[in-house]
Amino acid sequence: MDAAPALSFTPAVGDMALSAQQRSLLSLANELGRTKFAPRAHLWDEAASFPMANFDDLRDAGLLALCVPQADGGGGADYATYMMVAAEIGRFCGATALTWNMHISSTMWTGVLADGIPMTDAQRSEHARRRTLHFARVVKDGAIYAQPFSEGSAAAAGRAPFGTTARKVEGGWLVNGRKIFASLSGAADYYGILCTEDKGDAHPDARDTLYLAVPANAPGVAVSGDWNPLGMRGTVSRNLSFKDVFVSDDEQLMPRGVYYKGAQTWPAMFFTLAPTYLGIANAAYDFTVAYLRGEIAGEPPVKRRMYPTKQIAVAQMRIQLENLKSIFVRSIQEARPQPSADERMRLYAAQYTVMEGANDIARLAIRTCGGQSMMKHLPLERLYRDSRCGSLMLPWTAELVLDRMGRETLYRPGEKDE
Ligand SMILES: Cc1cc2nc3c(=O)[nH]c(=O)nc-3n(C[C@H](O)[C@H](O)[C@H](O)COP(=O)(O)OP(=O)(O)OC[C@H]3O[C@@H](n4cnc5c(N)ncnc54)[C@H](O)[C@@H]3O)c2cc1C
Repeated sequence: MDAAPALSFTPAVGDMALSAQQRSLLSLANELGRTKFAPRAHLWDEAASFPMANFDDLRDAGLLALCVPQADGGGGADYATYMMVAAEIGRFCGATALTWNMHISSTMWTGVLADGIPMTDAQRSEHARRRTLHFARVVKDGAIYAQPFSEGSAAAAGRAPFGTTARKVEGGWLVNGRKIFASLSGAADYYGILCTEDKGDAHPDARDTLYLAVPANAPGVAVSGDWNPLGMRGTVSRNLSFKDVFVSDDEQLMPRGVYYKGAQTWPAMFFTLAPTYLGIANAAYDFTVAYLRGEIAGEPPVKRRMYPTKQIAVAQMRIQLENLKSIFVRSIQEARPQPSADERMRLYAAQYTVMEGANDIARLAIRTCGGQSMMKHLPLERLYRDSRCGSLMLPWTAELVLDRMGRETLYRPGEKDE
């Protein structure tokens, strides 16, 4: 029986066929977002501080463990379900949705995505044992994981080995290096880093990428640098450094060599930053409609909807939003290991459409609502600033998506010019 009742709102992904689990999770996310995250969003933005109160709510609601398999005590949500819920949260607080994504990814990559990555029997059983420890931290202790990959080099773009290294030592690994833009820095309990195995031969190879959980309190881990950015200020994405940090063998979030294969097998793993921005696009559109109707709480009830120019702008925004939702939904529904060439192209196109489109919708929202709408006590200017960040996120920045699409269309695998 389909137990969960019909939704009383249109979710950020649009009105589509949803399972009972999806309806129930979307209702939960919408309720938390409306009542808790939206009213607090200005706090994190003003102070550039981490939304810890929201993470406490996410933990209490079981949402930190959303993608931990049910057999391990989690919510057992699949990829598409996570993407829908993330968009709903992004509608109310972009910084919360984006940092929640970093946390969730560590459970999804080791969980449902890893299940679709080829491994030897020995790797599979090693992974099964280790991920149980890691899932238990999330389910039982409510631990928060971050995902600091970026180093300011071509590594996070997938074009070079990571400069952060791990050398095998008795019982574990010795980690050295530095990460930039580490969202949740100072807030996470574990940093799920990508680094290159140092084999001592001075030939670092991306195929030797390791995915390790570094406990935030391990000796040698330090957070540094200022954090005063344009948007997504609540992500608190400062620098991390690792100086001879020892992590035990059990901190391997994937067996040796498997991350590299995973990145090739499951390109949709890099699409998980997009729902935050689909949520923001919805929020900018929702705000515009309410503002033009004179329905923003606390504002004078001035209607602006009678002007044809405003009506046309709202129509344009809706057309763009429908485009974003359509390609987003198709991409999450068809996401799978080893996608076809067309599915992969569509995934790139979806990333580009959502990341650039969200900012364009926010731009139109400010232009249409007008000068009074961009005052700091209203959310629109924050949505505008936050929306600008989506296209900057590696490995699929807007530029790199164009680069991949053009190259992969004009060159077949292995093809070169003389
Ligand atoms: C709010 C926010 C939160 C973030 N959180 C995280 C996080 O939690 N974890 C994390 O790992 N990172 C995070 N990032 C970092 C992000 O993924 C990018 O690494 C970062 O924005 C790149 O900044 P950069 O100045 O080093 O850009 P650069 O690397 O200098 O790149 C500039 C642009 O050049 C292009 N480019 C880069 N490399 C290549 C190449 N090899 N070939 C062709 N073009 C290239 C890209 O389009 C890129 O946008 C976050 C970023 C933001 C804005």
